[in-house]
Amino acid sequence: MKICVFDTRRIGVVNDGFVVDITSLIPVGCDQDAGLAMNWLIRNWVSSRPAVSTGLATLPKIPLSAVKLRSPVQAPKHVFAAPANYQKHIGELGAQAVTKGSRTAREQGFFLKAPGSITGIAEGIVLPALPGRRFDHESELAVIIGTGGKNIPRAEALSHVFGYSCLVDLTMRIEPGHREEERSMRKSFSTFTPIGPWIVTADEVPNPQVLSNKLWVNGNLKQQANTKDMIVAVDELIELISAVIELSPGDVIATGTPEGVGPVIQGDTLEIEIENVGRMGLLIQ
Ligand code: MN
Repeated sequence: MKICVFDTRRIGVVNDGFVVDITSLIPVGCDQDAGLAMNWLIRNWVSSRPAVSTGLATLPKIPLSAVKLRSPVQAPKHVFAAPANYQKHIGELGAQAVTKGSRTAREQGFFLKAPGSITGIAEGIVLPALPGRRFDHESELAVIIGTGGKNIPRAEALSHVFGYSCLVDLTMRIEPGHREEERSMRKSFSTFTPIGPWIVTADEVPNPQVLSNKLWVNGNLKQQANTKDMIVAVDELIELISAVIELSPGDVIATGTPEGVGPVIQGDTLEIEIENVGRMGLLIQ
């Protein structure tokens, strides 16, 4: 199933060119805020799914082309991110890389992006007015946690996944020697974490390590890879993050970018497509 957030705080299921509005299935109170509503739905997905399935035929629906899609996750407790997770990306940044000596998440662990940096198709990306700085796209598969937990073993990790989405890890690059700000800040400007166009539930993505991952700038293909080339796979990322901190329903894991990262400027259009997940287009403002 493809779960989305649309218009003002509505929760929907994308089905056959329409968005079925399932907000009425969310308890009163939680339904007043899209972040609360989606977190409730993810937390209660097993018990809610039958009503959602039935509702596809009975609840109001709107053409997909007529809605404003927003990030399908709006208020995760955490947004974790994997550094240097594709071999060919390691080295391409030269002196502008934070990760030295080919150290991956396995050696250096994860970093954090501020959940407040999340944006969606409707809002787009707004670059800060910082002349002379370079802002890069990073095309990433996002994992959305369903069942939380601490110390989740790798063999059980994928059963903790609610679903998958496309994520662009927007990044202000360091300028070696004089501007080496903290990574979490350079990746946490408002709108620097676009997610969408929806979450595809995990039952429709039985193997997250066989998906093509592509990104275009102004229609030109810039990044093209496959999640099979991830160094630390989704199950190991869940194991290593949950060894540090308890994962919560709705948490997001950005799984790292392949080679081909490059700058974007105001007026560019960005499109990201993950196989079996979806395609999301964003305007850079
Ligand atoms: Mn990244």
